[in-house]
Amino acid sequence: MTTLEVRDLTVRFTAGKRGLTAVDAVDLRVPTGEVLGLVGESGSGKSTLAKALVGLVPVMAGRVLLDGVDLLGARGARRRAARRHVQMVFQDPYGSLNPRMTVGEALGEAVRANSRGRRRRGANRVAGRGGSRGSEVQRLLDLVALDPDYARRLPRELSGGQRQRVAIARALAAEPQVLVADEITSALDASVQGAILNLLRDLQARLGLTVLFISHNLAVVRYVSDSIAVMYLGRIVEVAATDELLDRPQHPYTRALLDAIPQFGAPPLMDAAALLDAEPPDPHDPPPGCRFHTRCPIGPLADPGRTICLTDDPDSGAAGRLHRAACHFADRPAVDHAPRRTKEALP
Ligand code: ADP
Ligand code: MG
Repeated sequence: MTTLEVRDLTVRFTAGKRGLTAVDAVDLRVPTGEVLGLVGESGSGKSTLAKALVGLVPVMAGRVLLDGVDLLGARGARRRAARRHVQMVFQDPYGSLNPRMTVGEALGEAVRANSRGRRRRGANRVAGRGGSRGSEVQRLLDLVALDPDYARRLPRELSGGQRQRVAIARALAAEPQVLVADEITSALDASVQGAILNLLRDLQARLGLTVLFISHNLAVVRYVSDSIAVMYLGRIVEVAATDELLDRPQHPYTRALLDAIPQFGAPPLMDAAALLDAEPPDPHDPPPGCRFHTRCPIGPLADPGRTICLTDDPDSGAAGRLHRAACHFADRPAVDHAPRRTKEALP
């Protein structure tokens, strides 16, 4: 049971002619045993943030804390031990599994790596012995609801959903306290997505995992998350408890994502589909002021008086606040100058 905290995290890619800040001063907190959903369109920086948490991309600034221990700052054995507590599952289970290793071999390898880590830390060796390694593989298969004989199969002999179950089992071999799940259902058929989401919910509850659940699909995120963070061009633009975010979204971008889910299409603020279909700005050169102003349905495009959006970066406010949104007009979503259909104008 572990709280994951991200403070002021910045990841900048500098290769190529133009640099790009994929994650820009992000603050997030996932309390012990809870699921924080992270949603945003493709290219908003979700995967880069996830990779930063597990050390797969270099971090330019900021901290990642696990119960107060800095994962990026700690050294040597302490860092390895802390890192092991954070495991990641990726979108493409086929790409992340070795095609020539059976399921049993892949899981056995993960169990062995984990028991080596334990020995280094002076814990008992039981899990590392050959015989009990087999039973540990069986335990992992059982956790993800796969029959024992799946241990003999190769990845290509599995369906997409089964492969994703194996990928989850492999992550669990390290007995993590935190699981980072990045688009784990996005490559699956719709009919299989629900089963994997239910498995994740079940495992999270049974093992008391702290989970960062990432998807571009808000309908998927809301199904598993206690709270939701919305990301846009490298920034978190809104964070709130799931019900609160769904019932009282404050940021116009969050409202666009919600309006695109049919059953949430409350009084539409905009043509969500058109807004989300439009190309987002070039991430190498994000707009000044509020990054969303070039698409925002309540910003200067709709109300030329709202010039503050062109010049001032909205502060997302104190990270501790329960519901925060980085919008100058979060509390005034209506646009005074927007053309209204009056009685007279109706045919
Ligand atoms: P998401 O997961 O939300 O779709 P990503 O984190 O994959 O977004 O990407 C965020 C931005 O960073 C994108 O503009 C992407 O092109 C860029 N990016 C991602 N990885 C790299 C990399 N290794 N080098 C350069 N740019 C990258
Ligand atoms: Mg991604």
